[in-house]
Amino acid sequence: MKRLVLASHNKGKIKEIKDILKNLDIEVLGISDIITIEDIKEDADTLEGNARIKAEYIHNKIGGYTLADDTGLFVEVLNGKPGVHTARFAGENCSEQENRDKLLEVLNNEKNRNAVFRTVLVLIDEKGKEYIVEGSCEGTISNMEIGEKGFGYDKLFIPKGYSTTFSEIGLEEKNLISHRAKALNKLKELLVDMLNEDSDY
Ligand code: IMP
Repeated sequence: MKRLVLASHNKGKIKEIKDILKNLDIEVLGISDIITIEDIKEDADTLEGNARIKAEYIHNKIGGYTLADDTGLFVEVLNGKPGVHTARFAGENCSEQENRDKLLEVLNNEKNRNAVFRTVLVLIDEKGKEYIVEGSCEGTISNMEIGEKGFGYDKLFIPKGYSTTFSEIGLEEKNLISHRAKALNKLKELLVDMLNEDSDY
């Protein structure tokens, strides 16, 4: 069986990706299941650039199929911030709690709470060919943390058409509608074709 290595240490992200790709004939592993790596410097100014940095880094180290996800939260009233800097909104090496606190603080008393999550996935296949897919999910930022599940900003993000946060709706439902799910479903079609082609040889 082929394996697909995810260029991420983020347990929440890895869990979601594994769940969505679980029916494919490919073993999905996080990079830390295979080797220990230092933090990868994500210094591009786009999600696509950062996803490519991560995917190439892992592909150059271990070869095979590698997949990287870069995600950003774009808040309308903040002119799209934190965007590409979503992971370090509250400063370098900050915690997810500090990021959520900072978002609530900057949106305090703000009526326009529209935001969109965007995910870019970069897949590199065994031969080094790169594929890019994207997904987005519109919503609003709640006035306080709601829910216990998920990761990152899930306790604050209310997807459009729902009355509560990603955190409260839980993984199963989130994986039907999220930015990452939309990107992964496009990727799934590509992967199915690739795996079928490989098995023809
Ligand atoms: P990165 O793609 O790992 O750089 O993530 C950027 C930031 O967005 C981190 O703070 C993540 O915790 C957060 N994040 C990524 N995906 C999600 C999500 O699906 N829900 C909530 N927060 C997320």
